[in-house]
Amino acid sequence: MNYCGRFAPSPSGPLHFGSLIAAMGSYLDAKKNHGNWLIRIEDIDPPREVAGAADKIIDTLDRFGFEWDEPVLYQSTRYTAYQDALHELQKEKLLYQCICSRSDIQAHGLQGVEGAKYPGTCRKRGFDNSTYAPQRSALRIVTGDQPISFVDGLRGTICQNIAQDIGDFILKRADGLFAYQLAVVIDDAYQGITDVVRGADLLTSTPRQIYLQ
Ligand SMILES: [Zn+2]
Repeated sequence: MNYCGRFAPSPSGPLHFGSLIAAMGSYLDAKKNHGNWLIRIEDIDPPREVAGAADKIIDTLDRFGFEWDEPVLYQSTRYTAYQDALHELQKEKLLYQCICSRSDIQAHGLQGVEGAKYPGTCRKRGFDNSTYAPQRSALRIVTGDQPISFVDGLRGTICQNIAQDIGDFILKRADGLFAYQLAVVIDDAYQGITDVVRGADLLTSTPRQIYLQ
């Protein structure tokens, strides 16, 4: 498969230095591998977005001399694809409605790798179209109790058991917005991304994204 890399910032402000490093890393890795390099604006969280930030980020990348091989993809144009993916998972009975609040989850006292772990309270609810209220319930995916591992170019082999370390995670939030984990996987597939170079803060997200793939 031909190498295809990407840089996928959220337009929550101007491009900061850490993101510029990530962009540079993915760009150089794509060039070294004679691959393509794409930009995707992850604008699926309007409350956190700053007006004009997406244009500023693209302008900054342009002024630093980055060149991208396809038109910029905006996640705000991709809602139908995300919804279709949720339908597929719903058909497979892998989605369920969750009405737990943050404090409900914390009250269980289960610790995961990213703070309080979801205890699976609502699993038994399943998904029921007649009672599903997108503005009141989140949608979570049923996770498997098996290790998922991958090899990171810098950190080596990373292994995580999602059920034990994270718990069933959210694909659509109770405020009606699609979750980052879902959108990133759908769009990496859609754009044919083969290699991801990004900040180490996303290392613990990778097993969830592999699981969704
Ligand atoms: Zn719940």
